[in-house]
Amino acid sequence: MQTDAPVIVVINAGSSSIKFALYAAAAPAERLAEGQISGIGTGSITAETPQGATQQADVFGALKGDADHEAAISWLLAGLEKGGFVIGAAGHRVVHGGAAFSAACRIDLSVEREIERLIPLARLHNPHNLSAIRAVRAIWPDLPQVACFDTAFHTTQPDLATTLALPQKLRESGIRRYGFHGLSYQSVADRLETALSGGLPKRVVIAHLGNGASLCALKDGKSVATTMGFTPIDGLIMGTRPGLTDPGVLLHLLEEKGMDVQQMSHMLQKESGLLGLSGISADMRVLEASDEAAAKFAIDAFCYRIVREAGSLAAALGGLDAFIFAGGIGENSEKVRAKVMEGLAWLGAEIDAAANGERAGREPVLISTKDARLPVYMVRTDEEGVIAAETARLLTIHQ
Ligand code: ADP
Repeated sequence: MQTDAPVIVVINAGSSSIKFALYAAAAPAERLAEGQISGIGTGSITAETPQGATQQADVFGALKGDADHEAAISWLLAGLEKGGFVIGAAGHRVVHGGAAFSAACRIDLSVEREIERLIPLARLHNPHNLSAIRAVRAIWPDLPQVACFDTAFHTTQPDLATTLALPQKLRESGIRRYGFHGLSYQSVADRLETALSGGLPKRVVIAHLGNGASLCALKDGKSVATTMGFTPIDGLIMGTRPGLTDPGVLLHLLEEKGMDVQQMSHMLQKESGLLGLSGISADMRVLEASDEAAAKFAIDAFCYRIVREAGSLAAALGGLDAFIFAGGIGENSEKVRAKVMEGLAWLGAEIDAAANGERAGREPVLISTKDARLPVYMVRTDEEGVIAAETARLLTIHQ
């Protein structure tokens, strides 16, 4: 798929992995190739060379096992260039944009500094996003780069939805609800808007259910409430995060169980959620395949929380005109969709079992019956596609 026309490389850098995808700058809806580098910092790095790029193995060569983010980015860009791609720009996923970034923007030194300033709000994410940006700049200082923020989509929320009932001094220091998964919500909303004859319905809840999971309420296409808050720990039950948890539990653990900050952080980020409930796995596929009662309970609890939170968002919207499933679980788990829809029957959901058995794709699939009061859809989300489109829009790269 090599081409002389410039491509956009989309980079999603996590703590130990870098996912990447390539798009034609002139037609950013089309993904040319994708791949992933995993195990960064573990000493045993592995890299899937991009699917879609030809002669990949020869061109990329081996990546050193002890490569850090910068070395991994350098390997990636060098391989793409040797493979014949003309890199026109890089678009990055940045998890936390705080209150300052309400849209994607071109990266300059002041944007980098702002992303750095936000690190205390997103220690697990922003440092890695930033190191990828800096690694690209170190290699190709003149390459245009764009940052797309997961929080930006939620900057339309009213103060009522974002304010935490804490003392003023704390609120003034930026402690509030922000919300995440914004790039996914943008992708899903765009796909529905394009596909449905009447456009996006007025009052919608989107469920992004992956390893991380959240719900978003959209009124007239704009986020008005979401289940994640100050951090991506809040809200739904996730793979290894508990979601909504009485803060009194944390006080109890500090005061009575002698837990320190590091242990608490590990417990909240890595040991809770589906893994904590089941004691088996954080992976929905594994839980669905298990006969253990604890696995069944974990799935039931996951769905129960979604239904309760959907009710809360429907109240914030004053009613509900559509519900949409997306994300690894939302797109693939027939069982979770069926269970959640059962719980949403009071809002008018009624499952079409045959449609629910279909595969999710770019086109939304209606999985409720045609006469149901609440239309329910599943659609494949494409966060990288949103980053590519925003990057192309901001840079207007010419062939
Ligand atoms: P991330 O938040 O890391 O991007 P994904 O959106 O890829 O995560 O979602 C990962 C989750 O999707 C895992 O729990 C996985 O088990 C689940 N999943 C993927 N395929 C299926 C499937 N066919 N049936 C049920 N769950 C699935």
